[in-house]
Amino acid sequence: MSEELKVERLRKVFSVGRPAIDDVSFKVAAGEIVVLLGPSGCGKTTTLRCVAGLEHPTEGIISIGKDVVSAPERGILMPPRHRNIGMVFQSYAVWPHMTVRQNVAFPLKHRKTPRGETNKKVDEALAIVGLSEYSERPVVALSGGQMQRVALARSLVYQPRLLLLDEPLSNLDAKLRLRLRDDLRRIIKQTNVTAIYVTHDQAEAVVLGDRIGVMRDGKMLQLASPQDIYNTPADLFVANFTGASNQIDGKVIERSGNEGLVETKSGERLRATLPAALQTGSPVKIALRPEAIRLGGGGDTNIFTAKVADCRYHGTQTVYDLAVFGGKLEALELGTEVRYPVGSEVKIALPPSLLWGYAANETSGSE
Ligand code: ATP
Repeated sequence: MSEELKVERLRKVFSVGRPAIDDVSFKVAAGEIVVLLGPSGCGKTTTLRCVAGLEHPTEGIISIGKDVVSAPERGILMPPRHRNIGMVFQSYAVWPHMTVRQNVAFPLKHRKTPRGETNKKVDEALAIVGLSEYSERPVVALSGGQMQRVALARSLVYQPRLLLLDEPLSNLDAKLRLRLRDDLRRIIKQTNVTAIYVTHDQAEAVVLGDRIGVMRDGKMLQLASPQDIYNTPADLFVANFTGASNQIDGKVIERSGNEGLVETKSGERLRATLPAALQTGSPVKIALRPEAIRLGGGGDTNIFTAKVADCRYHGTQTVYDLAVFGGKLEALELGTEVRYPVGSEVKIALPPSLLWGYAANETSGSE
């Protein structure tokens, strides 16, 4: 049974420092997966712990389905065990002295479920996570990825109203992480449980989330589909954190529609997408993805010449550091062939729709 989660004006202040969560509101529809994405310390885990009831919010309302589970202003605080929420953490959190089956059956035993029904539900949960053949093995004889599947089966077996996952793939090696990442989405969708998934890894967020909520300093900056986050980041931080790592500083010298002409600090003029608030004369920071830079040129807008300052392999891609506009831009190309050697000059094209201007007083978080 999946239910909607509603978080309204959530605030959490620990005894010292700025609020860990500062007026955060969002909904997760029944059966939806929302990923909370952001750098360390932005408040993802605290949000999750408030929903679980492991942390007491300072203000705000949290509801699951029709139940208000937390509303400190009204004296409501439902204990975690009554919320019927499944949780999977970074650490495997399995009981080492038990078999796989005993681990998964534990929550049902705790709920005094009849034996026949327990066996049936455990078999179903193990089949979903692909561990049917391992049911009688001691859990310590499994790999990290398999242990995490046990933890997942154990938190799904009692059909929770909500599933919360906090960086569940962090302790796995790269290959396992990719495999379980793809499986996780399939498993969560198959069980139709409403889920919140916390991570600082944008690739994980894109694969897993129906929507992604990007957080910074206790605030939710943008909550949207992976496509919208990727194509129209709401601000410079979201752009930067989700991969638009290049930045060009300049000044707006002309506007038309949602585009405009920007003069860089070194005097070049380029056409970029600009928000309505940025008027002629405003200082601007342009964000762009490394993959937005067309090496070799193409088209007739925003064509420049850059010098290759460095070149390195990133797995199946070649990354170039380009000296241009009095600074550095990173560009990448699929393949491992070096088409532009260090020291050579290369033509680049920058499509205006992929150059996103933001007010220069915004910070990307990387400066
Ligand atoms: P990470 O990915 O590192 O876990 P996060 O985005 O999940 O980071 P939180 O763990 O939610 O961030 O922390 C948000 C802020 O609240 C941080 O500044 C953190 O130091 C603070 N914080 C978290 N738990 C406590 C606590 N028990 N007491 C005091 N401050 C805390």
